[in-house]
Amino acid sequence: MTVANTDQEGKLRTSSQAAQDFGDDPLAVRETSHYQMEYVESFVDKWDALIDWDRRAKAEGEFFIEKLRDLGAKKVLDVATGTGFHSVMLLKAGFEVTSVDGNEEMLAKAFSNARDHGHMLRTIHADWRWLNRHVHDLYDAVICLGNSFTHLHKDNDRRKALAEFYATLRAEGTLVLDQRNYDALLDHDVEPTHNYYYCGQDVRAFPEHIDESLARFCYEFNDGAQFHLNMFPLRKAYVQRLMKEVGFQRVSTYGDFQETFREKEPDFFIHVAEKA
Ligand code: SAM
Repeated sequence: MTVANTDQEGKLRTSSQAAQDFGDDPLAVRETSHYQMEYVESFVDKWDALIDWDRRAKAEGEFFIEKLRDLGAKKVLDVATGTGFHSVMLLKAGFEVTSVDGNEEMLAKAFSNARDHGHMLRTIHADWRWLNRHVHDLYDAVICLGNSFTHLHKDNDRRKALAEFYATLRAEGTLVLDQRNYDALLDHDVEPTHNYYYCGQDVRAFPEHIDESLARFCYEFNDGAQFHLNMFPLRKAYVQRLMKEVGFQRVSTYGDFQETFREKEPDFFIHVAEKA
């Protein structure tokens, strides 16, 4: 199989890799480009079991569709396509969608999933840090969903990615970005055994390690297969501040799709950042 990796200049390199590789000291892996080594083919194949599409569609309802319609968005850039769930939902709802991901395995899976749903996906293979080298159009909305922004391990990478998202938006455009509620986890307000957001029934997702710069999660499938993701635990207030600092004028945050929520309760936060 082929795995794409990104060097310092942002050129996507490819290498062969069949299994996840965290080296001798998995807790030391805190590197942005490492997502390429984490979303290997065997994990990508299982990803749709992790996020059962029908159950997820029920859980999310029309939240993103309604939000985007309210904002008057028609042309949407999905920068964290993954296996294509949101791209396909938005295409079905009549939006014009372009689907970006830095991982080729994910894009290939998304393309075939969309075809199975009767849609032809328009895909762009690009790392967020150098997005505008590959995206040459302006969009009404950029979506970055499914706790994807957490893959950026350095403050500088997060600022760069947000600035790249900002640049692909038209003057009145909006960024919709979600994240796990890491505050609750970091502040020990939830048990590590807490039942997380993923909707697949054949998988157990749980944190194996948490500190201020690493959340390492284990994904354990019924057939015994185990995968890991090393992520950066984003605090809600920090993400809101970054969005303002790169130029977004207004940031509204929802907790599990609700406008009013108690800080500790939601599994996920959704930030809606408006450019004007
Ligand atoms: N949005 C999808 C969902 O909700 O099912 C996928 C979520 S998956 C957790 C994160 C996705 O972000 C992966 O497909 C990964 O390849 C992509 N990704 C992570 N870091 C990236 C980066 N720096 N540039 C481009 N894509 C990236």
